[in-house]
Amino acid sequence: MRHFAVVGSGPAGFYTAEALEKAYGGQARIDILDRYPVPYGLIRFGVAPDHQSLKAVSKRYDKVADSAGVDFIGNVAVGRDVSIAELLELYDAVILATGAPHDRKLGIPGENLPGVIGSAEFVGWYNGHPDFADLDPALGGTHAAVIGNGNVALDCARILSKTRHEFEGSDIVGHALDALDGSAIRTVTILGRRGPHQIAMTPKELGELGHLEAAVPVIEAGDFPPVESDEPLEPGLRKSVGLLRGFADLQADKPKRIVFDFFAKPVAIEGNGKAERIVVEKTVLDASGSARGTGETYEVPASLIVSAIGYSTSPIPDVPFEGGKFVNQGGHIADRLYAVGWARRGPSGTIGTNRPDGYEVADQVAAAMPSGSVGNRPGAAGLKALLEQRGIMPTDYDDWRKIEETETGRARPGSPREKFVRVEEWLRTVGR
Ligand code: NAP
Repeated sequence: MRHFAVVGSGPAGFYTAEALEKAYGGQARIDILDRYPVPYGLIRFGVAPDHQSLKAVSKRYDKVADSAGVDFIGNVAVGRDVSIAELLELYDAVILATGAPHDRKLGIPGENLPGVIGSAEFVGWYNGHPDFADLDPALGGTHAAVIGNGNVALDCARILSKTRHEFEGSDIVGHALDALDGSAIRTVTILGRRGPHQIAMTPKELGELGHLEAAVPVIEAGDFPPVESDEPLEPGLRKSVGLLRGFADLQADKPKRIVFDFFAKPVAIEGNGKAERIVVEKTVLDASGSARGTGETYEVPASLIVSAIGYSTSPIPDVPFEGGKFVNQGGHIADRLYAVGWARRGPSGTIGTNRPDGYEVADQVAAAMPSGSVGNRPGAAGLKALLEQRGIMPTDYDDWRKIEETETGRARPGSPREKFVRVEEWLRTVGR
């Protein structure tokens, strides 16, 4: 029997557990650890609450969790409650699937002013992440800005622009819905340091902006290169650029506006004790396609600024870390230690990208210690004994299910789910 610890219960963790379960049949026990009492990481705390079809992938992960060889062990933070060296003593292999939960910094003056938040914080707040329940984003002004031209920037701009009615059928948390419903924001400016051909937004997500009840996208037609230059673009990007061109023809006849500001590099955030405006430098593209500042600046008013410029992984003591992710060769970090998903490659790709990633690493594990080979490590029994010595109470599969029953039990018809936003509250629910 082999014992494997998968650290992190988001998509990468579950695909890896699924792959290990298949590779080993009944010859392995796979424990999926998470610092939160319930699983699903990005699916629970990252995917937009109005994108329920994306969240449905968790049904596949449910099946993995239900399988005989897989266990969930929650409320355990690796690197704090148990070290990597200890896990490697207890398990035959440890696979880090910890995702990329931290915001990259802008590195410009004023980014620490009140009113400036990272997308991980904002997205966590409206998704019921326990760390961000008290975020209280500045929704009292009329102007907000979102920095970045990726799908997360789109999520943030859309959530800021939707009406209460448009959140029906979503699972946005009640506290965020109430706050957004009372928001004074009427203009959300999306700042991109490069142009329409360089966006990282995908067509489905971009297309949604054209169908909002109370908000309309606004784009300067002059920001586009000649239409013929769309032809050589990769088909997905060409479709996205086509949608943007269509936005330029829309009438701004709704109360809210989502303004695309291209070739606009934030250089400072200013305000009297809180964010009031972003100073932006106009850019041009250099020969390599990078944004080069022209020296010409202007100001964009914004009392809420969400920086959506990418994420980084949490370092773990004694695990080599560089450039926002673990140092690895094709997923291999060190003897019996691996990384998968965003912790391995950085924050890119769709949820499904993590599947081949997890399977590839599971293949490496299986090649190093073939199914049927015998290990003599204690796995979960040893981990639980160690945690007990330290006074740490892990949650298990039954606890997780009880928490979810209570979440669903609180749902009111036609209104969003009430999720628990604090770990202590979660733990009380399961009688801890
Ligand atoms: P992303 O796709 O990498 O986009 C990051 C954006 O930030 C880019 O436009 C980048 O511009 C810009 N940026 C980076 N540093 C900057 C700086 N210092 N100043 C100004 N702009 C800066 O990252 P993401 O939006 O966080 O998304 C992460 C991954 O999750 C992506 O693969 C995304 O597709 C995926 N995702 C998917 C969905 C969905 O399918 N519905 C939803 C959310 C996220 P440059 O290009 O100039 O560097």
